Amino acid sequence: MTYSTQPTASHYINGAYVEDSNGAEISVIYPATGEVIATVHAATPAILEQAITSALAAQKSWAATSGTERGRIMRRAADMMRERNHDLSVLETFDTGKPYQETSVADATSAADALEYFGGLAATLTGEHIPLGEDFVYTRREPLGLCVGIGAWNYPAQIAAWKGAPALACGNAIVFKPSETTPLSALKVAEILHEAGLPAGLYNVVQGLGDVGASLVTDPRVDKVSLTGSVPTGRKVYAAAAEGIKHVTMELGGKSPILIFDDADIEAAVGGVILGNFYSSGQICSNGTRVFVQTGIKDAFLNRLAERLATAVIGDPQDPETSFGPMVSEAQMNIVLGYIEKGKAEGARLVAGGSRLDRDGFFVEPTIFADVTDEMTIAREEIFGPVLSVLDFDDEADGIARANDTEFGLAAGVFTSDLTRAHRVSAAFEAGTCYINTYNLAPVEAPFGGSKASGVGRENSKAAIEHYSQIKSVYVAMGPVDAPY
Ligand code: NDP
Repeated sequence: MTYSTQPTASHYINGAYVEDSNGAEISVIYPATGEVIATVHAATPAILEQAITSALAAQKSWAATSGTERGRIMRRAADMMRERNHDLSVLETFDTGKPYQETSVADATSAADALEYFGGLAATLTGEHIPLGEDFVYTRREPLGLCVGIGAWNYPAQIAAWKGAPALACGNAIVFKPSETTPLSALKVAEILHEAGLPAGLYNVVQGLGDVGASLVTDPRVDKVSLTGSVPTGRKVYAAAAEGIKHVTMELGGKSPILIFDDADIEAAVGGVILGNFYSSGQICSNGTRVFVQTGIKDAFLNRLAERLATAVIGDPQDPETSFGPMVSEAQMNIVLGYIEKGKAEGARLVAGGSRLDRDGFFVEPTIFADVTDEMTIAREEIFGPVLSVLDFDDEADGIARANDTEFGLAAGVFTSDLTRAHRVSAAFEAGTCYINTYNLAPVEAPFGGSKASGVGRENSKAAIEHYSQIKSVYVAMGPVDAPY
């Protein structure tokens, strides 16, 4: 299988592709067929050393470049990314198996949004003046230095840019390690940034498994770690970063609730639930996989959901007509099938799907369970696949209490036509990202992230600047020093 945009080597360091075939081979598999489409090598210690030293060498002069110039380069990269959206989307579809119908509107495009947004902010990053009578303090907003980004496999280009864009805007250098399952797209992000004029060494990509990520996190020269991954990995990475008192952003997993009240617009609620469960074949951290439906509309909701789900086009993800693709890997498919079996065994009612599809690749049918109860495994654990649990609820207080009864706190949604209830419920949700009468939109202008076990810090928006820069206070005395002796 060939495609025009394939990266030419495993790593991108100091402004160029770099290979070191001493590193362990990692096969890149097209999830729709199971075919090996590329091979990359895990980073050796020598590769990691090159990435870190080139980043350190480049960072200081980048920080000294004006914000306007930094932003100009980033916005140029955003434009190039949009011009190449088709090729980048084809590559992303090969890397992840997500339908081209999705990758062409949600992957490289959202990476471009991040570069454009943070490129625009770069020139606005300033300190403040704090008057103290004659004396005063001024603050400088300074970069952290060397940032490490570690990505999950569901949005490889987006994650590479959501971490890289604010890091670069604030004057940092970054070393990014994609998921071993989807190593390709981040290389193209690096390539485009440097083609747009980014000085060599500022955005490096190294491949590898968790051990490569762990080496980066524990390196004393690294100042900040931003992880997108599961809660168990988050616990390890957070602990390792704490040892070195490093800054962290943790974008972790979820088991988010959607509350659908009797007075909701059923069509909107069904649409939101489809976006919140089956987009990217359910492999989205903020998915609303616990769908609480008020008893009065339960049957109408389930019927309409099943009708609309039946129109999903499952097939070759490169076909623009396809709207539902495979799981990213055989391993993830087996995890999802295991949860489906648990759902059946624990007494949930299978309403739709429930099986692997009889075709090549790692396809699992979009699956709906009804009559799910709060203690069932499928209602408590993150599945990260197309498995939706419908639970019943009676009143608002009951719905909110059960929605919040989870260790996670990434996202939550409410569908209702009662204006005050919508805001009251949103205020009561214990989640970082909430939706009223829609679900799973993540514009770069809005903060995105989780509370409770779902994470620390926020990506996107001006809030991300706080996580990629630090404030220095400078006290300026205008008179004599008043010492006691
Ligand atoms: P994992 O937690 O398995 O891995 C995430 C990344 O961390 C991978 O690059 C992985 O490497 C790396 N890693 C694993 N162990 C370590 C370690 N000890 N030290 C440093 N790095 C390590 O997540 P998945 O890739 O399976 O992604 C799915 C998870 O990501 C889900 O839980 C999902 O909810 C979450 N996610 C959260 C998002 C958010 O914004 N909150 C968005 C998207 C996904 P490798 O796998 O290559 O070995």
